[in-house]
Amino acid sequence: HARRLEGVDKNIWVEFTQLTADYKAVNVGQGFPDFSPPSFIQEAFCSAITGGASMHQYTRGFGHPALVKILAKFFGRIVGRDIDPMEDFQITVGAYQALFCTFQALIDEGDEVIIVEPFFDCYQPMVKMAGGTPVYIPLKPRKSTGPALSSADWVLSPEELASNLNPRTKAIVINTPNNPLGKVSLELSVSRFNILFKGNLLNQVFSNCLKCQVKECVKYHLELATSLPGMWERTVTIGSAGKSFSATGWKVGWAMGPGNIIKHLKTIHQNSVYHCATAAQEAVAMGFQREYDTFGTEDSYFKQLPAQLHKKRLRLAECLRSVGLEPVMPQGGYFMITDISSLRKYYVDLNDPSTKDEPYDFRIVKWLIKEKGLATIPVSGFYSPEHRGNVQNYIRFCFVKEDSTLKAAEDIIRQWS
Ligand code: PMP
Ligand code: GLN
Repeated sequence: HARRLEGVDKNIWVEFTQLTADYKAVNVGQGFPDFSPPSFIQEAFCSAITGGASMHQYTRGFGHPALVKILAKFFGRIVGRDIDPMEDFQITVGAYQALFCTFQALIDEGDEVIIVEPFFDCYQPMVKMAGGTPVYIPLKPRKSTGPALSSADWVLSPEELASNLNPRTKAIVINTPNNPLGKVSLELSVSRFNILFKGNLLNQVFSNCLKCQVKECVKYHLELATSLPGMWERTVTIGSAGKSFSATGWKVGWAMGPGNIIKHLKTIHQNSVYHCATAAQEAVAMGFQREYDTFGTEDSYFKQLPAQLHKKRLRLAECLRSVGLEPVMPQGGYFMITDISSLRKYYVDLNDPSTKDEPYDFRIVKWLIKEKGLATIPVSGFYSPEHRGNVQNYIRFCFVKEDSTLKAAEDIIRQWS
């Protein structure tokens, strides 16, 4: 095998999705809604596939025209600048492929990429496969204020970030809401950020923030990209329609940025994937048109979904607290991490020899799946191998699930304690 594969073969999704299926566990682990997407987007998909022969054939390789046009309009209105639909977008197979194209297009051997820890796990292998070196800057729970109860209490030190920047630093990856923590913004004010960093910014945003933070969250990202002179010119902003419309299986994503950077992502795309599914792009275009028309109103799904999530978040947090598990309340997204130190008392039960050399959180998660029928994700999987040892006391729950799923999870949690 090629050298680039060394050290990137392990993957928490491969491992835990399989285990969850094998044990038919209640799934509050992997991040996908187990309810249907809203009816308007399902209808959009149906009308796309019955919309004529062209919907079943290749479309423009860099992005279906209807989709890039409405995305340019949607994001352009938020930031008040013209975004060129043809030059400034690459449509991709989910946010995953947008990330892959970006790293492949921008990172050379020897380049360093700053990754804020904990991080969505694929950043590390993708940077390495591009020949780059990941440099990790941790979000740390604030000391002295007692237990950190909100993701806002997990902070990044601008000084630590600054001290890790050097001429080899090629990019900083920012993910809001942070997966797995749910942190919505970094302490870095936009102006501070500019002083610190003159390289590229890989800016990953999802629109599934809580309450009505969608607007603020998207705005935060776009402000990073636009409110400073020269920042748009070096920022790639990545999104996922799977997240926006609760349809993760459609795998439609995008990278947006200045044409002179996006053109390099296009080179990667045209030499690897080339086209993305036409009908799915057409349906997402219709969905965005609807969200454009209803933006900020009660009819907007980008407002309705966060309202639903708000209730589910409170419900899960209350359940965890009732059995002595202390959750870190997320400001956005649909994941919640919780401290599992108090489960140490069950450690004697972890007599599964197949996991004896694994981190504590991996062992607890496997025990929960196998013995209790409940699937979550170990948070040390969102850390670099170097730092994994220090963070074995958290597991991640996903709460974008039917109330019946949350109820089933609650029943298990309340029984075992
Ligand atoms: N990045 C982050 C931060 C994510 O949370 C996810 C999926 N939850 C992805 C990328 C992948 O998105 P997609 O399914 O659109 O490829
Ligand atoms: N992004 C989703 C999560 O964080 C799913 C990731 C995956 O299945 N690879 O759970």
